[in-house]
Amino acid sequence: MPGRLQHKSALITGAGSGIGLESALLFAAEGAHVLLVDVNLAAAERAARLVAERSPGVQAAAFKADVSKEAEVKAAVDQAVALFGRLDVMFNNAGIMHPADDNALNTEERIWDLTMAVNLKGVWWGCKYAILAMRANPTDAARGLHTGGSIINTASFVAIMGAATPQLAYTASKGAVLAMTRELAMVHAREGIRLNSICPGPLKTPLLMDFLNTEEKRERRLVHLPMGRFGEAIEIAKGALFLASDDSSYMTGTDFKVDGGLTSCYVTPQ
Ligand code: NAD
Repeated sequence: MPGRLQHKSALITGAGSGIGLESALLFAAEGAHVLLVDVNLAAAERAARLVAERSPGVQAAAFKADVSKEAEVKAAVDQAVALFGRLDVMFNNAGIMHPADDNALNTEERIWDLTMAVNLKGVWWGCKYAILAMRANPTDAARGLHTGGSIINTASFVAIMGAATPQLAYTASKGAVLAMTRELAMVHAREGIRLNSICPGPLKTPLLMDFLNTEEKRERRLVHLPMGRFGEAIEIAKGALFLASDDSSYMTGTDFKVDGGLTSCYVTPQ
C-alpha cells in the first residue's frame, strides 16, 4: 500500500514536541520527506533522528527557526525546497501559551505582542512562503502529483468558545488564525493551494500540562470534556494527515475540529 503522502514533502513547525513531533512521525510513515522546524534546535534534531529511525525510506532533517521572524521562516521554506525539490505540505503548528497571559486587566502588552508574534504572525509568514513555494511546484504527471499544495494552520478550540479561565492573547491569536486561514483559502483556491485550520481540543502535551500542573486545575477542565479525558497529540496528527493528504482534496477554508466533542457540548454525559 503506498502511503498517503507518498512522493510529497512537508515542513512542520514546532516539530520538536507534541503535535508537531507526532505529525512528523506520522507524515514520514505515510511516505513524506519531512523538514522538522523548531526554535529549539536540539528538540528538532532529536525528533528528526526518531523519524529517520522509524521511517528510513524518507528524508528527515531538522532546521532551527523562530516562526515570528520572517527571514527565518523564509530560510526554512527555502531549505525544504532545496532538500526535497518541492513543498507540498506546510503545517504551521508552532505556538505558545504564556503563563502570564491572563484577562483584559492583567495581561501585559509585551505578553500580548509576543503571543501574537508567534501564534499569528508566525502563521502568516508560514503561509506567505509556503504559497510562494507551492506556486513554483513543478507538475509531475508521471507520479500523479498535482501542482499546488496543502497548508494547515493550528488554531484551537478556544478560537470558537470562551473560557472563564482566560488567556486573552492566546485566544485572540487563535481566533485570528481561523479568520486569516479562511480568507487565504479563498484567495488561493484557484491556484490549487488549499488552506485549512485545525482546532485541537485540550491535549496531554507539555504546552497544556505544564500549565495545568495541579489536580484541581485539571479537574476544572475535565468536567467539561464530553469524553472525560484530554486528547493525545497523535489524535491531532491524524487529523492533520487527512488535511495534508489528497483525501481532503475538496476541503479548503474549513475549521477542522479534533476536540473530543468539546465545541458541540452543552451538558456533559454523566
Ligand atoms: P508543545 O509545547 O508540545 O510544542 C510546541 C513546539 O513549538 C515546541 O517544540 C516549541 O519549541 C516550538 N515553538 C515554540 N515557539 C516557537 C517559535 N517561535 N518558533 C518555532 N517553534 C516554536 O505544544 P503542542 O501542544 O504540540 O502545541 C502545538 C500547537 O497546538 C500550538 O499552536 C498550540 O497552540 C496548539 N494547541 C495546543 C493545544 C493543547 O492542549 N496542547 C490545544 C489547542 C491548540
